[in-house]
Amino acid sequence: MPDVLTGGCACGAVRYRFEGEIAFAFNCHCRRCQRMTGSGHAAAFCVATDDIAIEGDVRHHDETSDSGFATRSGFCPQCGSPMLSRTARAPDKVFILAATLDDPSTFVPTFAVYGEYAQPWDPIDPRLKRD
Ligand SMILES: [Zn+2]
Ligand SMILES: [Zn+2]
Repeated sequence: MPDVLTGGCACGAVRYRFEGEIAFAFNCHCRRCQRMTGSGHAAAFCVATDDIAIEGDVRHHDETSDSGFATRSGFCPQCGSPMLSRTARAPDKVFILAATLDDPSTFVPTFAVYGEYAQPWDPIDPRLKRD
């Protein structure tokens, strides 16, 4: 994936610019990601919080993950687009939803997690490693 990436929500009120090295990129099939995205999985990449500049107002929904960590989901309060996620497990990292990229074709996931929750209509990409 390129080391400069830009993206934003559906209405454009929230924009981001990332410059740096992506820690990893993956598909998550957990139920939380399914609900958050309204789809079969979240396609996301993980970056250092310091490497991303976010413009606009992001609202957060706080919850506790199945593994017991405090988790925040960030979305645009104007259009409701889910955009990012943070976890107390990795406080210096932020997970960005890949479909928010201006050019989502640059997203290259390398593994899939929570495959046991994959829906029959959205199976795990066979090209990906299973975590
Ligand atoms: Zn928006
Ligand atoms: Zn998930």
